[in-house]
Amino acid sequence: MNEKYGGENMTLAQSDPEIWNFYQKEWRRQEEGLELIPSENYASRDVMDAAGGIFTNKYAEGYPKKRYYGGNEWIDEVELLAIERSKKLFGVPFSNVQSHAGSQANMAAYFALLQPGDTVMGLNLSQGGHLTHGSPVNFSGKLYKVAAFNVDPETHLLDYDEIARQAEAHKPKMMIAGFTAYPRQVDFGKFAKIAKSVNAKLMADMSHVAGLIAGGAHPSPTGHADVITSTTHKTLRGPRGAFILSPSEETAKLIDKAVFPGLQGGPLENMIMAKAVAFHEAAKPEFKTYARQIVKNAKALAAALMDLNFVLVSGGTDTHLILIDLRNRNMTGKEAQLALDAAGITANKNTIPNDPQSPFITSGLRLGTPALTTRGMKEKEMAMVAHWMDEVLKSPSDEQVRAKVKEEIRRMTAEFPIYPGLIKN
Ligand SMILES: *Cc1c(COP(=O)(O)O)cnc(C)c1O
Repeated sequence: MNEKYGGENMTLAQSDPEIWNFYQKEWRRQEEGLELIPSENYASRDVMDAAGGIFTNKYAEGYPKKRYYGGNEWIDEVELLAIERSKKLFGVPFSNVQSHAGSQANMAAYFALLQPGDTVMGLNLSQGGHLTHGSPVNFSGKLYKVAAFNVDPETHLLDYDEIARQAEAHKPKMMIAGFTAYPRQVDFGKFAKIAKSVNAKLMADMSHVAGLIAGGAHPSPTGHADVITSTTHKTLRGPRGAFILSPSEETAKLIDKAVFPGLQGGPLENMIMAKAVAFHEAAKPEFKTYARQIVKNAKALAAALMDLNFVLVSGGTDTHLILIDLRNRNMTGKEAQLALDAAGITANKNTIPNDPQSPFITSGLRLGTPALTTRGMKEKEMAMVAHWMDEVLKSPSDEQVRAKVKEEIRRMTAEFPIYPGLIKN
């Protein structure tokens, strides 16, 4: 058996003990804690074997069958498989699997479809958009004009009529439907209609929900968007990385040029192999069960939290994601994140719509169930998670409470090993 992820056979343990020490510590943190960050997941051992394998040794600038380096016959086969599998998984005719990360994929989409100075329109970062959707500190906000929209201040839902009015007023060249803290389903069809009405392109950034879409637990942007970007490492449970889907050959050509030579040199073929493995896993019937269970778990966690008097933005969830409004508990997102961390619960502070606090402090806490669901946890465990959170956040500076909860979590998580069969040392 390969003991790579914690066993004694990893040569790193002997050759670089300084690094190995931290590897072990992080491994223990992952195994013994509750991972509730909605953008995180545990990739399979197959995905990690591919990501950590010999394909890392190869330069392959260009695209399959059109490389600038020799020796790419097997690299080409793997990249072609990754392309084919991603196309099939999402029902789209063109795919580029070379983007190193979601931000690069989005940058490529901008470069392909826009000129600097054009107007883009996405959800405000402070309301659940992404940095790359026009934040002033990001390339998107520096190179393009931005006309952001907000969610409805009362319901916290996307208000498509209001978005249509904003689009009419600002006439963006591209609209972005993609979210990092929106707990509800997105109607890509409505976005497409709005974009069409003002002659804008629609970019769907499905980074957070790609796994739910692949598993049939969230509507797909396929058939609606002019370009679809996504990370591979969130609900999709692949390696860190991204890909871009195009509905037309014309767009696909622009995307390919924007990625290479526009933005990148040599692609990470080891990561492309790992993406191919992840697309294969996501096409299996078990993945549909997984995607549905992510949502069931999120709904169970949301219900348990509301029973314990937590207030949820939009009043619940129908995805993998929950956003807590902490104001009725007189604490900030920052305080909550710190207290939970000390008890072995990893979540992240997040702004809520119209947050009175700064983005570094925040009034919100963002949770998600993809990682816990990968470990095999179900509704019963979600109720336990809600109770632990309540216990810790009721007395956020009580070290005894934290220690007690941490020990209870250690015992529970031991029943749900992330990588069964691997030895801890
Ligand atoms: C995570 C995310 C990204 C960026 O991905 P990175 O790999 O971190 O660059 C882009 N858009 C959305 C909506 C995301 O959730």
